[in-house]
Amino acid sequence: MLNKVSVLGAGTMGAGIAQWFAQCGLQVQLFDVQWEQAQMAIEKIHASWDKLLAKGKFTDDQVKSFKESLQAVSSLEDLDSDSDLLIEAIVENLKIKVDIFQKLHHHFKEQTIFASNTSSLPIDSMARELDDSRKKRFVGLHFFNPAPIMKLVEIIKSHWTQEDLSRDLQEWFNQQGKKPAICSDGPGFIVNRLARSFYVEPQRIIKVESTQRVKETDAILKEVGGFRMGPFELMDLIGIDVNLEVAKSVWKSFYYEPRFQPHAIQEKLVISGRWGKKTKGGFYEY
Ligand code: NAD
Repeated sequence: MLNKVSVLGAGTMGAGIAQWFAQCGLQVQLFDVQWEQAQMAIEKIHASWDKLLAKGKFTDDQVKSFKESLQAVSSLEDLDSDSDLLIEAIVENLKIKVDIFQKLHHHFKEQTIFASNTSSLPIDSMARELDDSRKKRFVGLHFFNPAPIMKLVEIIKSHWTQEDLSRDLQEWFNQQGKKPAICSDGPGFIVNRLARSFYVEPQRIIKVESTQRVKETDAILKEVGGFRMGPFELMDLIGIDVNLEVAKSVWKSFYYEPRFQPHAIQEKLVISGRWGKKTKGGFYEY
Protein backbone atom coordinates (compact mmCIF):
# COMPACT_ATOMS: atom_id res chain seq x y z
CA MET A 1 0.00 0.00 0.00
CA LEU A 2 2.76 2.49 0.96
CA ASN A 3 6.15 2.65 -0.73
CA LYS A 4 7.11 6.31 -0.68
CA VAL A 5 6.46 8.83 2.07
CA SER A 6 7.01 12.57 2.38
CA VAL A 7 7.34 13.89 5.93
CA LEU A 8 6.93 17.59 6.72
CA GLY A 9 8.60 18.88 9.89
CA ALA A 10 11.84 17.42 11.19
CA GLY A 11 11.31 18.10 14.89
CA THR A 12 10.65 15.55 17.61
CA MET A 13 7.81 13.79 15.79
CA GLY A 14 8.74 14.29 12.13
CA ALA A 15 12.21 12.82 12.73
CA GLY A 16 10.77 9.83 14.62
CA ILE A 17 8.10 9.20 11.99
CA ALA A 18 10.65 9.43 9.16
CA GLN A 19 12.93 7.00 11.01
CA TRP A 20 10.15 4.49 11.54
CA PHE A 21 8.95 4.60 7.92
CA ALA A 22 12.53 4.07 6.68
CA GLN A 23 12.83 1.09 9.03
CA CYS A 24 9.70 -0.33 7.37
CA GLY A 25 11.56 -0.31 4.04
CA LEU A 26 9.93 2.80 2.54
CA GLN A 27 11.58 5.60 0.58
CA VAL A 28 11.35 8.65 2.85
CA GLN A 29 11.85 12.35 2.16
CA LEU A 30 12.02 14.79 5.06
CA PHE A 31 11.37 18.52 4.76
CA ASP A 32 11.58 21.31 7.34
CA VAL A 33 11.31 25.10 6.90
CA GLN A 34 14.63 25.22 8.69
CA TRP A 35 17.12 23.33 6.54
CA GLU A 36 19.54 22.90 9.47
CA GLN A 37 16.77 21.21 11.43
CA ALA A 38 16.25 18.65 8.66
CA GLN A 39 20.00 18.01 8.46
CA MET A 40 20.26 17.67 12.22
CA ALA A 41 17.35 15.21 12.20
CA ILE A 42 19.11 13.04 9.60
CA GLU A 43 22.29 13.04 11.72
CA LYS A 44 20.32 12.07 14.82
CA ILE A 45 18.49 9.28 13.01
CA HIS A 46 21.78 7.92 11.61
CA ALA A 47 23.29 8.01 15.10
CA SER A 48 20.27 6.12 16.44
CA TRP A 49 20.64 3.43 13.75
CA ASP A 50 24.38 3.14 14.48
CA LYS A 51 23.55 2.57 18.15
CA LEU A 52 20.91 -0.04 17.28
CA LEU A 53 23.43 -1.75 15.00
CA ALA A 54 25.97 -1.86 17.83
CA LYS A 55 23.31 -3.40 20.07
CA GLY A 56 22.59 -6.07 17.47
CA LYS A 57 19.02 -4.89 16.77
CA PHE A 58 19.75 -4.35 13.06
CA THR A 59 22.33 -5.78 10.66
CA ASP A 60 24.91 -3.81 8.66
CA ASP A 61 22.89 -4.31 5.49
CA GLN A 62 19.68 -3.11 7.11
CA VAL A 63 21.26 0.07 8.43
CA LYS A 64 22.91 0.73 5.08
CA SER A 65 19.60 0.41 3.27
CA PHE A 66 17.73 2.55 5.85
CA LYS A 67 20.30 5.30 5.38
CA GLU A 68 20.01 5.11 1.60
CA SER A 69 16.22 5.31 1.74
CA LEU A 70 16.05 8.46 3.88
CA GLN A 71 16.89 11.88 2.53
CA ALA A 72 16.32 15.48 3.53
CA VAL A 73 15.05 17.93 0.92
CA SER A 74 15.49 21.67 1.12
CA SER A 75 12.42 22.76 -0.82
CA LEU A 76 8.82 21.59 -1.14
CA GLU A 77 9.26 21.30 -4.92
CA ASP A 78 11.83 18.55 -4.34
CA LEU A 79 9.26 16.28 -2.68
CA ASP A 80 8.46 13.30 -4.88
CA SER A 81 5.03 13.98 -6.40
CA ASP A 82 4.55 10.23 -6.70
CA SER A 83 4.58 9.74 -2.88
CA ASP A 84 1.87 7.47 -1.53
CA LEU A 85 1.62 9.44 1.69
CA LEU A 86 2.31 13.00 2.74
CA ILE A 87 2.32 13.40 6.52
CA GLU A 88 2.83 16.65 8.35
CA ALA A 89 4.36 16.95 11.82
CA ILE A 90 4.85 20.70 11.83
CA VAL A 91 3.83 23.34 14.36
CA GLU A 92 0.43 22.79 16.04
CA ASN A 93 -1.28 25.64 14.21
CA LEU A 94 -4.36 25.12 12.08
CA LYS A 95 -3.69 27.88 9.56
CA ILE A 96 -0.07 26.86 8.95
CA LYS A 97 -1.05 23.19 8.53
CA VAL A 98 -3.91 24.01 6.13
CA ASP A 99 -1.71 26.40 4.11
CA ILE A 100 0.90 23.74 3.48
CA PHE A 101 -1.67 21.10 2.48
CA GLN A 102 -3.31 23.55 0.06
CA LYS A 103 0.04 24.56 -1.37
CA LEU A 104 0.95 20.92 -2.00
CA HIS A 105 -2.40 19.73 -3.37
CA HIS A 106 -1.45 20.19 -7.03
CA HIS A 107 2.10 19.01 -6.48
CA PHE A 108 1.09 15.46 -5.52
CA LYS A 109 -0.77 12.85 -7.54
CA GLU A 110 -4.48 12.45 -6.86
CA GLN A 111 -3.98 9.15 -5.02
CA THR A 112 -1.50 10.54 -2.49
CA ILE A 113 -2.92 10.30 1.02
CA PHE A 114 -2.57 13.53 3.00
CA ALA A 115 -2.27 13.06 6.76
CA SER A 116 -1.81 15.19 9.84
CA ASN A 117 -0.02 14.14 13.01
CA THR A 118 -1.88 16.80 14.98
CA SER A 119 -2.38 16.01 18.66
CA SER A 120 -5.54 17.99 19.10
CA LEU A 121 -6.76 19.99 16.11
CA PRO A 122 -10.01 18.64 14.65
CA ILE A 123 -9.33 16.63 11.50
CA ASP A 124 -12.51 18.03 9.96
CA SER A 125 -11.20 21.59 10.40
CA MET A 126 -8.31 20.74 8.06
CA ALA A 127 -10.23 18.44 5.72
CA ARG A 128 -12.92 21.01 4.97
CA GLU A 129 -10.31 23.42 3.60
CA LEU A 130 -9.03 20.90 1.06
CA ASP A 131 -10.05 20.23 -2.50
CA ASP A 132 -12.94 17.71 -2.72
CA SER A 133 -10.75 15.11 -4.40
CA ARG A 134 -8.24 15.32 -1.52
CA LYS A 135 -10.81 15.36 1.30
CA LYS A 136 -11.54 11.68 0.63
CA ARG A 137 -7.87 10.82 1.02
CA PHE A 138 -7.19 12.86 4.14
CA VAL A 139 -6.83 11.38 7.64
CA GLY A 140 -5.29 12.04 11.00
CA LEU A 141 -2.36 9.72 11.69
CA HIS A 142 -1.40 10.36 15.27
CA PHE A 143 1.91 8.79 16.24
CA PHE A 144 3.25 8.83 19.78
CA ASN A 145 6.64 9.88 21.04
CA PRO A 146 9.13 8.25 20.38
CA ALA A 147 7.49 7.27 17.10
CA PRO A 148 9.84 4.40 16.18
CA ILE A 149 9.11 2.70 19.51
CA MET A 150 5.55 3.52 20.54
CA LYS A 151 3.14 1.00 19.04
CA LEU A 152 -0.07 2.98 19.05
CA VAL A 153 -1.10 5.01 16.00
CA GLU A 154 -4.51 6.69 16.12
CA ILE A 155 -6.18 6.78 12.71
CA ILE A 156 -8.70 9.59 12.72
CA LYS A 157 -11.31 9.76 10.01
CA SER A 158 -12.73 13.05 8.88
CA HIS A 159 -16.33 13.46 7.81
CA TRP A 160 -15.19 12.88 4.21
CA THR A 161 -12.57 10.13 4.60
CA GLN A 162 -13.21 7.09 2.40
CA GLU A 163 -14.21 4.20 4.65
CA ASP A 164 -11.82 1.77 2.95
CA LEU A 165 -8.88 4.16 3.37
CA SER A 166 -8.91 4.01 7.17
CA ARG A 167 -9.40 0.22 7.06
CA ASP A 168 -6.53 -0.22 4.57
CA LEU A 169 -4.27 1.95 6.71
CA GLN A 170 -5.23 0.01 9.81
CA GLU A 171 -4.29 -3.24 8.10
CA TRP A 172 -1.03 -1.81 6.79
CA PHE A 173 0.04 -0.47 10.20
CA ASN A 174 -0.85 -3.81 11.76
CA GLN A 175 1.37 -5.58 9.26
CA GLN A 176 4.26 -3.26 10.24
CA GLY A 177 3.87 -4.16 13.93
CA LYS A 178 2.07 -1.02 15.10
CA LYS A 179 -1.20 -1.11 17.04
CA PRO A 180 -3.48 1.16 15.06
CA ALA A 181 -6.77 2.36 16.52
CA ILE A 182 -9.44 3.94 14.37
CA CYS A 183 -11.06 6.72 16.33
CA SER A 184 -13.54 9.49 15.83
CA ASP A 185 -12.64 13.13 15.45
CA GLY A 186 -13.33 14.20 19.04
CA PRO A 187 -11.21 16.61 21.11
CA GLY A 188 -7.84 15.00 21.93
CA PHE A 189 -8.96 11.81 20.13
CA ILE A 190 -8.46 8.97 22.64
CA VAL A 191 -5.10 9.31 24.34
CA ASN A 192 -4.75 13.07 24.54
CA ARG A 193 -8.21 13.35 26.04
CA LEU A 194 -7.43 10.79 28.74
CA ALA A 195 -3.90 12.04 29.28
CA ARG A 196 -4.90 15.62 30.08
CA SER A 197 -5.46 14.66 33.72
CA PHE A 198 -2.10 12.90 33.82
CA TYR A 199 -0.40 16.22 33.00
CA VAL A 200 -2.57 18.82 34.69
CA GLU A 201 -3.43 17.13 38.01
CA PRO A 202 0.23 16.69 39.04
CA GLN A 203 0.74 20.43 38.43
CA ARG A 204 -2.25 21.16 40.64
CA ILE A 205 -0.73 18.85 43.26
CA ILE A 206 2.68 20.55 43.32
CA LYS A 207 0.99 24.02 43.13
CA VAL A 208 4.26 25.90 42.51
CA GLU A 209 7.39 25.16 40.52
CA SER A 210 9.66 23.06 42.72
CA THR A 211 12.26 20.56 41.55
CA GLN A 212 11.85 18.60 44.75
CA ARG A 213 8.08 18.20 44.29
CA VAL A 214 8.49 17.42 40.60
CA LYS A 215 10.96 14.62 41.40
CA GLU A 216 8.79 13.21 44.19
CA THR A 217 5.64 13.19 42.08
CA ASP A 218 7.37 11.49 39.15
CA ALA A 219 8.91 8.92 41.50
CA ILE A 220 5.57 8.13 43.15
CA LEU A 221 3.75 7.68 39.85
CA LYS A 222 6.52 5.39 38.57
CA GLU A 223 7.11 3.35 41.69
CA VAL A 224 3.58 3.15 43.00
CA GLY A 225 1.50 3.86 39.91
CA GLY A 226 3.55 1.63 37.63
CA PHE A 227 3.95 4.28 34.91
CA ARG A 228 7.14 4.04 32.84
CA MET A 229 7.61 7.80 33.00
CA GLY A 230 6.34 10.39 35.43
CA PRO A 231 4.17 13.26 34.12
CA PHE A 232 6.91 15.90 34.43
CA GLU A 233 9.54 13.77 32.68
CA LEU A 234 7.02 13.02 29.98
CA MET A 235 6.11 16.69 29.44
CA ASP A 236 9.84 17.46 29.15
CA LEU A 237 10.15 14.74 26.51
CA ILE A 238 7.06 15.78 24.55
CA GLY A 239 7.95 19.48 24.64
CA ILE A 240 6.21 21.68 27.21
CA ASP A 241 5.29 24.16 24.46
CA VAL A 242 3.72 21.45 22.29
CA ASN A 243 1.92 19.96 25.29
CA LEU A 244 0.52 23.37 26.31
CA GLU A 245 -0.88 23.99 22.82
CA VAL A 246 -2.64 20.63 23.00
CA ALA A 247 -3.93 21.41 26.50
CA LYS A 248 -5.37 24.73 25.32
CA SER A 249 -6.92 23.20 22.25
CA VAL A 250 -8.64 20.36 24.17
CA TRP A 251 -9.83 22.83 26.85
CA LYS A 252 -11.34 25.09 24.19
CA SER A 253 -12.98 22.14 22.42
CA PHE A 254 -14.72 21.18 25.66
CA TYR A 255 -16.10 24.73 25.98
CA TYR A 256 -13.59 25.54 28.72
CA GLU A 257 -14.60 22.80 31.16
CA PRO A 258 -12.52 23.45 34.32
CA ARG A 259 -11.22 19.88 34.47
CA PHE A 260 -9.27 20.51 31.24
CA GLN A 261 -7.92 23.94 32.20
CA PRO A 262 -4.15 24.20 31.62
CA HIS A 263 -1.96 25.16 34.59
CA ALA A 264 -0.06 28.40 35.17
CA ILE A 265 3.21 26.54 35.90
CA GLN A 266 3.26 25.21 32.36
CA GLU A 267 2.44 28.62 30.87
CA LYS A 268 5.31 30.17 32.87
CA LEU A 269 7.79 27.57 31.60
CA VAL A 270 6.70 28.19 28.01
CA ILE A 271 7.00 31.98 28.37
CA SER A 272 10.54 31.65 29.73
CA GLY A 273 11.60 29.35 26.88
CA ARG A 274 12.07 26.28 29.08
CA TRP A 275 10.35 23.79 26.81
CA GLY A 276 11.87 20.57 28.12
CA LYS A 277 14.62 18.33 26.81
CA LYS A 278 14.84 20.05 23.44
CA THR A 279 15.83 23.36 25.12
CA LYS A 280 17.96 21.56 27.73
CA GLY A 281 15.62 22.58 30.52
CA GLY A 282 11.98 22.38 31.58
CA PHE A 283 10.71 20.77 34.76
CA TYR A 284 14.24 19.28 34.93
CA GLU A 285 17.63 20.59 33.78
CA TYR A 286 19.50 18.57 31.08
P1 NAD B 1 8.67 20.32 17.09
O1 NAD B 1 8.56 21.72 17.55
O2 NAD B 1 9.66 19.42 17.72
O3 NAD B 1 8.92 20.28 15.50
C1 NAD B 1 8.15 20.99 14.58
C2 NAD B 1 9.02 21.22 13.34
O4 NAD B 1 8.20 21.74 12.29
C3 NAD B 1 10.14 22.24 13.57
O5 NAD B 1 11.37 21.64 13.20
C4 NAD B 1 9.77 23.40 12.66
O6 NAD B 1 10.90 24.04 12.08
C5 NAD B 1 8.95 22.71 11.59
N1 NAD B 1 8.01 23.58 10.89
C6 NAD B 1 7.24 24.57 11.42
N2 NAD B 1 6.47 25.11 10.45
C7 NAD B 1 6.77 24.44 9.30
C8 NAD B 1 6.31 24.53 7.95
N3 NAD B 1 5.40 25.43 7.59
N4 NAD B 1 6.82 23.68 7.04
C9 NAD B 1 7.76 22.75 7.40
N5 NAD B 1 8.25 22.63 8.65
C10 NAD B 1 7.74 23.46 9.59
O7 NAD B 1 7.18 19.72 17.22
P2 NAD B 1 6.75 18.20 17.43
O8 NAD B 1 6.76 17.88 18.87
O9 NAD B 1 7.51 17.34 16.48
O10 NAD B 1 5.21 18.29 16.99
C11 NAD B 1 4.85 18.33 15.64
C12 NAD B 1 3.38 17.95 15.51
O11 NAD B 1 3.18 16.63 16.06
C13 NAD B 1 2.40 18.87 16.25
O12 NAD B 1 1.22 18.96 15.52
C14 NAD B 1 2.18 18.12 17.57
O13 NAD B 1 0.94 18.45 18.16
C15 NAD B 1 2.20 16.70 17.09
N6 NAD B 1 2.55 15.67 18.08
C16 NAD B 1 3.55 15.88 18.99
C17 NAD B 1 3.89 14.89 19.90
C18 NAD B 1 5.02 15.07 20.88
O14 NAD B 1 5.16 14.22 21.79
N7 NAD B 1 5.86 16.08 20.75
C19 NAD B 1 3.22 13.64 19.87
C20 NAD B 1 2.23 13.44 18.90
C21 NAD B 1 1.91 14.46 18.02
